[in-house]
Formats: sequence, structure tokens, C-alpha cells
Amino acid sequence: MNDPDNAAAVAETVMAWADELGKISEDPDCLTRTYLTPEHRQAVELVQSWMEESGMTTRLDAVGNMVGRYEGSEPGLPTLLFGSHLDTVRDAGQYDGALGVLLAAACVGVLHRAGERLPFAIDIVGFAEEEGVRFRSTLIGSSAVAGTLQDSDLTLTDEDGVTVAEAMHDFGLDPERVGDAAYKPDDVLAYVEAHIEQGPVLENAGLAVGAVTAIAGISRFHVTITGVAGHAGTVPMGLRQDALAAAAECVLAVETVCTETQGMVGTVGRLDVSPGADNVIPGAVKFGIDMRSGDDAVRAQAVDDVLSRLRNICERRGLPIDIVKTHENPSTTCAPWLRDRIADAIETETATRHLLPSGAGHDAMALTGLADVAMLFLRCTGGISHNPDEAVATDDVACALRVLLRFIRDFQPKAD
Ligand SMILES: [Zn+2]
Repeated sequence: MNDPDNAAAVAETVMAWADELGKISEDPDCLTRTYLTPEHRQAVELVQSWMEESGMTTRLDAVGNMVGRYEGSEPGLPTLLFGSHLDTVRDAGQYDGALGVLLAAACVGVLHRAGERLPFAIDIVGFAEEEGVRFRSTLIGSSAVAGTLQDSDLTLTDEDGVTVAEAMHDFGLDPERVGDAAYKPDDVLAYVEAHIEQGPVLENAGLAVGAVTAIAGISRFHVTITGVAGHAGTVPMGLRQDALAAAAECVLAVETVCTETQGMVGTVGRLDVSPGADNVIPGAVKFGIDMRSGDDAVRAQAVDDVLSRLRNICERRGLPIDIVKTHENPSTTCAPWLRDRIADAIETETATRHLLPSGAGHDAMALTGLADVAMLFLRCTGGISHNPDEAVATDDVACALRVLLRFIRDFQPKAD
């Protein structure tokens, strides 16, 4: 294959970087790397060394994000911003987040070694806190870069009662200066994030990469169905008020609506049955519903449909149902002009053009306040993520490198 940038060899380097970064963990038995810990510092120092090898100047920003910059044809030009996160979930895989940062740095390394300067700068941010493991609040690093971090975020506590502000202070950061991490909108031409898909769509389609259309919006509900507990032997079937039988119908209603609605996914991932014994008719069931779509109108319609079906099921069975909305987040649309440039680069490099939504959240959600955003997804084995079995093929990394380099070299800011 024609490989002028030697992407195959650069991909081997990216894989070696991911292996090395993946060894930095708070837990000796698995990969866990959370915000403002010694392992966070080790990770940023390692990524810093690779960014500098790749011809970038580096800095740790005011919230602990690692930022690299590759100047354009003259210093101080507006920047094409790349990023993803360096923190992980507990017992994580090593590619979620990290790969996006490493791919972008490797692209800059290719440009640097070829002596290529562009009519814009390239900045890469290794976001410090996306997953929200330590302080149970996601997207702290990317919100700070977008200038939308709230003062209240600094008062969140970890399980030892340490606040974000205290942890920042211990890390050598000044919590009074978190505003310094924000970019000015005029300085950012666009934000682009490469990330493993974390789902099986690309693998099923036999494709290495795809352009993301939107990051799904989410609605979550807690549902309680109240029946009457009773003896499993003595209460005849027609006289029961079985909360679990009603809940089972409700779970299937979620599945039916989300299967029949294009672009919807819906999950009941938790079901608490009480009293929970083999010989007792269930007296109460609590369960959670998670429904997502890249299209907010589609999601709203499907949610209405599901909730009315649930109420009808319980009315027919004569059981009280209580439904509480616990979370709602709108979808993030990838800017069509920018998404199309990613898709164009994919088409040029792979002769295919595949667009897909993201069902998972990403730093790009926070960046929409700052700039137009787009994402490149890479196939991951079996669609597995948030799991030590997460895997990516070196050839797919090489493909992503070619696509990103093509995208960068062809990039022109949006015409006003
Ligand atoms: Zn991620």
C-alpha cells in the first residue's frame, strides 16, 4: 500500500505508547487512573515527553490537563484543537480516551519530522477528568477548557471527603485560577476527537473507522411498582398483585419501543425485587431505565411512548407505579461541515464513507460551548470497552493516522 507517511510504523509507536501508558495505574491488579492522583501526574509526564518528541511545546493547564501545541506557519495562529481523556474508569481498558490523545500527538510527530507547518496551529489536550470516577462528576477537564466549569464543581468531594479544590492544591494547582484553562472561542477553529467506538457497529460493518454524527442524548428514570407480597403456594394466580410480573412486561415494553424506533436504544440494567425469595410473590420492584438517541425529538417521542405503556400495564394489573426522571442530557450534534471533512478524509483513505452515532458520552460534549466539534471512531474488538479486554488492531490505528493526517492537511476553517 502507498504509505508516504509511514503510518504503519507510526501506528506501532502509538500501540507501544498505549501499552506503556496503560501500565500507570493506582491498582496493581488492573488499570484505574483517576483525577489528581500521583498516577495522573505520571501519565501527564509520560504524554508530555511524547508530545515534546513530536515537536510540540507543552504545559499543564490550571485543572491538570496536559496541553501540547504545534505552532503553524507563524506563531500565535488560531488552533485546530484535538483531545481526549487520560483518566480511566476502574478496571479499564487502555485505549478509551488515551488513544485519541496519542493518535493526535503521533500525527503532529509526522508533520514535525517532515518539517510541515500549516496555516493554523494544532493544540492537543489530554483531558484530566472525563469519566468522573473520583468526584462523581464527568467532564471536569473539558469543561474547564470550554470555560464552563462551575465554582460548585470545585466543592465536590471524593469518598475520603477531599474536595476538588483541596486535591488541586495538593497536586500543585491553584483552584482560584481554574478559569485560566479556558480557550477563547476566537482562538479555536474546531475541536476533533478520535476515540474507540466502544460498540460493535464498525466491526459488524467490517470498517476500521467512521465519522460520528451525534453524541446521544440520554433520559433516565427510576421506576417503582408496588404489588402485594404473598405466599407463593396459597394465593391463586387470578388474585395476585405480582410486582415483578408487571415489571417484566415493562422491561419488554422498553425493548419493544426502542427496537421499533429507528436510532433509539433503551436499557433496563437494574431490577431490585423485594422481598426477593423463591417462595414469595414479589411485593415491590424498583428498576432503572436508560434511553438514548442522537436525535432529541426521537428520544422525547420514544420516552412518551414507553412511559404511557408502563402506566397502561400497571393500570391493567391494578398496581401503583411511580416514575421519577433522574437524568436528562440533550444530544450533541457533530457540526455537519466538520463531520463531512472527517468523512471526506475517510473516503479518500479507505474508499468507504461511514457515519454512525455515539451512544456514549465524550469530552466533545463539553467542547461544543467553545467550538464546532466532530469525532472519528475506531473499530474496537467485539465492541468491548470499559473493560481490560478492550483491544484495537494496529492496522486500524494506521488507518486512523492516515485519515487524521489527510483531514489536517486538507483542513480549512469554516467559511463565515
Ligand atoms: Zn472515553
